[in-house]
Amino acid sequence: MYDFLIVGAGFAGSTLAERLATQLNKKVLLVDRRLHIGGNAYDCFDDSGILIHKYGPHIFHTNSRQVFDYLSQFTKWRQYQHRVMASVDGMLVPIPINLDTINQLYGLNLSSLEVEAFFQTVAEKREAIRTSEDVVVSKVGRELYEKFFRGYTRKHWGLDPSELDASVTARVPTRTNRDCRYFTDTYQAMPLHGFTRLFENMLSHENIHVLLNTDYREIKKFIPYREMIYTGPIDEFFDFRYGKLPYRSLNFQFETHDTAVIQPAPVINNPNDFAYTRVTEFKYLTGQHHPKTTLVYEYSQAEGDPYYPIPRPENAEIYQKYKTLLETMPLVHFCGRLATYKYYNMDQVVAQALTLFSKLEARTPAKSSETKSGSKLVSVPAAGNGKGSARKPRSISTAVLKRLRTGQSG
Ligand code: FAD
Ligand code: UDP
Repeated sequence: MYDFLIVGAGFAGSTLAERLATQLNKKVLLVDRRLHIGGNAYDCFDDSGILIHKYGPHIFHTNSRQVFDYLSQFTKWRQYQHRVMASVDGMLVPIPINLDTINQLYGLNLSSLEVEAFFQTVAEKREAIRTSEDVVVSKVGRELYEKFFRGYTRKHWGLDPSELDASVTARVPTRTNRDCRYFTDTYQAMPLHGFTRLFENMLSHENIHVLLNTDYREIKKFIPYREMIYTGPIDEFFDFRYGKLPYRSLNFQFETHDTAVIQPAPVINNPNDFAYTRVTEFKYLTGQHHPKTTLVYEYSQAEGDPYYPIPRPENAEIYQKYKTLLETMPLVHFCGRLATYKYYNMDQVVAQALTLFSKLEARTPAKSSETKSGSKLVSVPAAGNGKGSARKPRSISTAVLKRLRTGQSG
């Protein structure tokens, strides 16, 4: 009997598994339908031996000391300040828009005060800031909005910024100084040995069993458990009873080049040209030294793995309907980006998971702790038809887990 069946081995599921196992001595079965742990933050070495992020570039940043301290138990860090350039009017200029962006773009030599005055002359007045268009045009005017935001947003979301909540483009600030960092959070760092290693360390406790390559629906009838934590898409959990909640998907195209460095910046955004939105060169993020380099091109699409909840009022309404169903299910808890339909970064997901853990802890008297960390067995089911027969899990060692990480079979 497991105390918890946790669906999804991303940041939400792994944080909860770790806390429940180590702090409350709960027995946890963590199930993921993918072949690996880590969810969308999973990283692995490609065929050339370059550390890549399989589901697009992930940069850790947070203002939360609690989240940073929590994750620091499972990894050492490499300090990293992320930088992005946008390809606009045939030039590569810093994004978020700052003083240098304006001076380069218009061939000027303005000071911070002068650029502030410039923004005021071009900004469009808005009674209320409701949409992603409002956010930008009310700060930097229509021309800069069209150069940097309109095309990128239409490509990425398949929607005009006027159809998206203000919170989407509000993620990217406007600056009048020369700070060219993408984020200004207090803590900005990358896990020294990668995200997957961080997850392995989180899950390295004998109370946690990991079952990969398995949809929880295949096993939930056969494996007894007391409570469930679900971190997959909420509409899917309820068999799309109130219709499909849209999630934006991406197609990632990886390219390896026979040269040490190819881009002048870690990420180049392409708001107006090409079908892809951005190109990332991983070695900047990971700090890896290697004679070759790997890039990823991101192409947005409607269908495919769900990556982005789409923040707009009609979707929030559908989500609210699904959320009311949760009130009738006290033994199922929803957490994470897909399950709570929130455009959350990794740190926000960890914070949400820690909050849920506190609630679970508050109502659960702790058992006496008899377990120790570091001797976990990982289980994957033998290949089957997935039609619901009780498949016998095969216990495997962490060496096999490592092979799964790198996508090798055997
Ligand atoms: P996920 O990581 O999506 O994990 C959910 C897991 O549940 C998945 O592994 C899935 O396979 C599993 N699952 C779903 N349904 C089932 C089922 N029926 N049975 C079994 N398993 C199931 N955040 C940052 O902080 N910085 C960044 O730079 C950043 N960049 C990003 C770039 C991209 C392209 C994307 C898509 C996201 C980025 N994020 C970034 C956000 C980050 O990926 C998420 O905040 C975080 O990974 C969400 O964790 P999660 O556990 O909620 O969900
Ligand atoms: N955005 C844009 N142009 C840019 C960068 C961002 O229009 O050069 C908009 C776009 O709508 C994007 C949103 O701002 O989806 C948030 O950007 P962020 O870089 O945070 O996106 P993520 O890393 O989550 O994909």
